[in-house]
Amino acid sequence: MPRTGKAKYEYFSDAVEKQAIMMLPKVRELGEAIKALVVGPYTSRFPVEPHVPHPNFRGQPKFDAEKCLGCLACEAVCPADAIAHKDEIDGPTPKRIMIHYTDSCIFCGQCEAACIADHEGIKLSNDWELSFFDRKTAFETIEKELQLCELCGAVVATKDHLLWIAGKLGELVYSNPTLYMSQWMKLGVTNPNLASSQKDNSRSDRIKILCAHCRRETAQPM
Ligand code: SF4
Ligand code: SF4
Repeated sequence: MPRTGKAKYEYFSDAVEKQAIMMLPKVRELGEAIKALVVGPYTSRFPVEPHVPHPNFRGQPKFDAEKCLGCLACEAVCPADAIAHKDEIDGPTPKRIMIHYTDSCIFCGQCEAACIADHEGIKLSNDWELSFFDRKTAFETIEKELQLCELCGAVVATKDHLLWIAGKLGELVYSNPTLYMSQWMKLGVTNPNLASSQKDNSRSDRIKILCAHCRRETAQPM
């Protein structure tokens, strides 16, 4: 179909516009090249010199043993199953071991985003030199002290996690003996030896640190 004068003009103007758009990256590259001549190259001299990554670089996530509460939220959201935990309750101090597997982590940052400890319990670092010879050694751990049920010995939560929940609840904490007893134990105003001597599934058992099962059993005795 023959082009009219107007159509020809539009075709010509479209072609010029497309060419200008295609030129833009080249102009930008030229600008960057000139800038690099003045301020130096963008690439580092690694391995001759250690490479310092950009502050926003997503490197190896690291637990903070002080700030982490051992709540397991990061484990629940990790898409690569790179976080796990192991509860050891047989030793003198029951503990939860939080494990981060370096070899399966994809550095997505979901653990940090979901961390209930103000995103400070686990944080992406700038560590990027993570090569290893034995895959079995590609993990890091921290330990958190566990609170066991005073009646059956089951895991309730970590002590830090219970204190964190109690702190969030404020005065509402007095509706839950497990939580306010955790606070009292931290303050040293309870006697755990006295509490453990009264195991009779009666009213006295209600004012103890209990797992959900024992709380139900003592609240609704058969
Ligand atoms: S960065 Fe992503 S993959 Fe790695 S531990 Fe955190 S959530 Fe899992
Ligand atoms: S406090 Fe944060 S880092 Fe610690 S277990 Fe919970 S979510 Fe994970």
